[in-house]
Amino acid sequence: MRVAVIGGGVVGLSATVALLRQGADVRCYEAGEPMGERSAGDTRIFRLAHVYPDMVELAARSRTVFAEWGERAGGLLIDPVGTVVSGAGAQRWAAAMTVAGAACELVEPGSSLLRLPATTFAGPALVDPSGGVIRVDRLRTFLVAAAGDRLRRARVDAVEETATGVRVRTGTTVDTVDAVLICAGSGTSALAAGAGIDTPAALEHHLRVSFPIRPGAPSPPQCWITEEAPGLLGTYQHLAGPGTWAVGGDIDSSLVRWDGGRPAAEQASLAALTAYTAEHLPFVEPRPIGTVYCTHNPDLGDGLQFVRRGRILAMYGENLMKFAPLLGETLAAACADGSTPANAGPHAGVA
Ligand SMILES: Cc1cc2nc3c(=O)[nH]c(=O)nc-3n(C[C@H](O)[C@H](O)[C@H](O)COP(=O)(O)OP(=O)(O)OC[C@H]3O[C@@H](n4cnc5c(N)ncnc54)[C@H](O)[C@@H]3O)c2cc1C
Repeated sequence: MRVAVIGGGVVGLSATVALLRQGADVRCYEAGEPMGERSAGDTRIFRLAHVYPDMVELAARSRTVFAEWGERAGGLLIDPVGTVVSGAGAQRWAAAMTVAGAACELVEPGSSLLRLPATTFAGPALVDPSGGVIRVDRLRTFLVAAAGDRLRRARVDAVEETATGVRVRTGTTVDTVDAVLICAGSGTSALAAGAGIDTPAALEHHLRVSFPIRPGAPSPPQCWITEEAPGLLGTYQHLAGPGTWAVGGDIDSSLVRWDGGRPAAEQASLAALTAYTAEHLPFVEPRPIGTVYCTHNPDLGDGLQFVRRGRILAMYGENLMKFAPLLGETLAAACADGSTPANAGPHAGVA
């Protein structure tokens, strides 16, 4: 089977590797650097914790594939420090984990189970012991090596289904294949629309900032997610390297609007995240030392969505890094049998 995967981000590369294992004749088209857009940077948060039980189960399956890949890669792809979700919503997350049969514990701030860069924050806190830091640097090296010469540096301009297959057009070539996967991140909606597939097109700017950790901080700190972060609409935080703490978060959407431009959005995000860090993270020095920027689709939240038209399958969602190994296998299987995987999360059931 000839398959074209469009997009060499973590999802496209994971699908390429799974398709290769399946014996498919696969080519992955990447317009820029592999994992250089939404998959950029060296770390992400892994968690089983989700508000929806189906997402908890999928994350558990993904963690199993992460472990297998770690063995093939010769080193852990997730540093197993655990993940904490705090605030009033933690009880809902815990309930979903319990329904899905995942281990977790609800504690109050001050508990000896917590290793966070702050001691005073809104509780309760859900400890997800299976969470941790995804080593994107190692994952990128593994996936690019595993994809090998199947990765092709070219921008796809259009995909069109014909009676005999699907034509994949770049500036210089036209290939005809049996199946196409569109997993091109912010490029998905334009390509999919050209093939008659409707996916969300709205975009926002987003920024994560890294700061030095002060001596004496709890070690190794857990990844941390909370919707109750003063001055922010929520924050996620984790170890981004030795002695480095990454703080991301949502700010007022009017400040990160797409048409407001990237520089203004980055400046507003940097100011808000630095102010929050200065006031609420006593173990972190509020001196920015690095940033990771990406575009994202507002209002998608955690969730996996798949849309098929004939031999073309498009996939989109947010926070996909933690699901990538499982997504790769799911997408490869869907290419082989022509099926459409079930949506998961808040939009499950939405076609
Ligand atoms: C700051 C930040 C923090 C995050 N935190 C987390 C987290 O803690 N946990 C988590 O699980 N996820 C997290 N995410 C989200 C996660 O990283 C992304 O959802 C995931 O990396 C998306 O991968 P992707 O392959 O879908 O998209 P991308 O990585 O953007 O890949 C799509 C690729 O398609 C290519 N492309 C686009 N158009 C075309 C075309 N026409 N032809 C050829 N190639 C094309 C692009 O160049 C790009 O490389 C975070 C993201 C960011 C940026």
